[in-house]
Amino acid sequence: MSNPDKGNEWWRAKRRRLIASRGGKCGNCGATEQLEFAHKKPTGLNGRGRGFKDRVRDVMLHPRRYALLCRPCHDVMDGRTVRRAGERDW
Ligand SMILES: [Zn+2]
Repeated sequence: MSNPDKGNEWWRAKRRRLIASRGGKCGNCGATEQLEFAHKKPTGLNGRGRGFKDRVRDVMLHPRRYALLCRPCHDVMDGRTVRRAGERDW
């Protein structure tokens, strides 16, 4: 019996495992905090603000299309230098 509506804790645990499986640090500078998964190649899930469950699921489906980066490196890669106040990405 499948249960597609798993709780947030399950997804958070999955995300921690994905991060740990990539060494738990930024692939660019080696930082271990504020880690995010950044698109290297487009997947069906582009853009931000889609909810972290969708992103975790997408990383699981397309592991080679994502790089583990810290937030500052992710911003540089995406061409952003300033993040709006209150904007969050996991
Ligand atoms: Zn970094």
